[in-house]
Amino acid sequence: MIIKQKGTYDIYGDLAKKRAYVDEILASISEKYNYGYIETPVFESSELFHRGVGESTDMVQKETYDFKDRGDRELTLRPEGTAGVVRWFIENKLYGNMTDPVKVFYNMKMYRYERPQSGRNREFTQWGFECFGSDDVMSDAEVISLAYNAYRLLGLDDVTIKINSLGDAESRSIYREELIKYFKPHINDLCEDCRERLNKNPLRILDCKVDADNDLLKNAPKTLDYLNEESKKRFEDLKNLLDMMDINYEIDERLVRGLDYYNHTVFEVVLNNSYALGGGGRYNGLVETLGGPSVPAVGFAMGYDRTILAIEEQGINIPINDSIDAYILYVSESEKETASYIVQDLRLNGFIAETDLMEKSLKAQFKSVDRFNSKYLIVLNDEELKQNKLTIKDNKTKEEESINLNDLVDYLDMHL
Ligand code: AMP
Repeated sequence: MIIKQKGTYDIYGDLAKKRAYVDEILASISEKYNYGYIETPVFESSELFHRGVGESTDMVQKETYDFKDRGDRELTLRPEGTAGVVRWFIENKLYGNMTDPVKVFYNMKMYRYERPQSGRNREFTQWGFECFGSDDVMSDAEVISLAYNAYRLLGLDDVTIKINSLGDAESRSIYREELIKYFKPHINDLCEDCRERLNKNPLRILDCKVDADNDLLKNAPKTLDYLNEESKKRFEDLKNLLDMMDINYEIDERLVRGLDYYNHTVFEVVLNNSYALGGGGRYNGLVETLGGPSVPAVGFAMGYDRTILAIEEQGINIPINDSIDAYILYVSESEKETASYIVQDLRLNGFIAETDLMEKSLKAQFKSVDRFNSKYLIVLNDEELKQNKLTIKDNKTKEEESINLNDLVDYLDMHL
């Protein structure tokens, strides 16, 4: 038997319905914030992700699905959404005449070779939001509020936004040197990966999972102490705007996020102060790193599968329709023809209608009515049909009514 790959899963049944509900809410909030839909290819040149995400990150070093196609091209399955969206932005020269920001959202599958566990898969979905062209802290606040409001609309009221600032390039580079100075004498107390990170990307040491509880990390220099005046002011302005919007945030001075491209604002959304449901930040250098001009940008990616898990764990009720409106039962060939006409008519008028497709006995069709949890049932009868009539029964009250065939749609409109 061929089985699905580790870290992947099939989406069907109630899960599919839950996802459709969550999608609807997220699409509607994206619209309110005036973000347009974008979808980029599942595979792109390896160079895009290696350069965009950063060669020294765990994602590129250990997690990307890299392969060569039959034309010997080096390709990578998309591990995150931002690099592809930036490639699209540059390729279409959208930086040309930016009087307004370019704002897009995506709902895409991502691929990372990680150790699968609950909420961590090899194929997973992210909803993401990217805003290009504004360096105003107002756009950081807008993206954070979008993230915050999306979770709250989904019923996750206990989310907190953790924020931090890495500062501008100057502040970040001074901070980087401080970290190297701080960690160097203790290098042997760090895990093997962190020893590697020390010179390549020392900020990454701060969100190492292996060393998370090491006091060395807890007492490390904090980004906020190394911000220059301008970066400091920017962070104050951001907090001010978040206060104005009544957003529940906390400052987390250890938050640096895994990717190379962030500067200034970084943030993560956590539930009950435990695991991250999503994260984002400002990435002013990325468009240039990927071959475009210098264009400021800010974005956010929601861990969609984790969000669904959290909704389930919190016992939040997702309205799932597990019933149909009408089931049409028949026996004779002529009744069958009328059944085909009726289901067609009902479906075109917006009702969920079913009839037998399995040549079942009438008794077995009655069982289907209950399995489908049908609100109404109609047992066709040639004698009645000759007079253009049918009998419709309310499956709950068991009350029956004889009506004209032509009045069926009106009848259901009135009763459902
Ligand atoms: P990142 O791009 O790593 O910042 O991820 C953003 C969000 O996506 C995280 O906060 C998680 O909620 C989610 N996420 C990241 N990796 C995975 C994964 N392997 N499986 C499921 N969700 C993930």
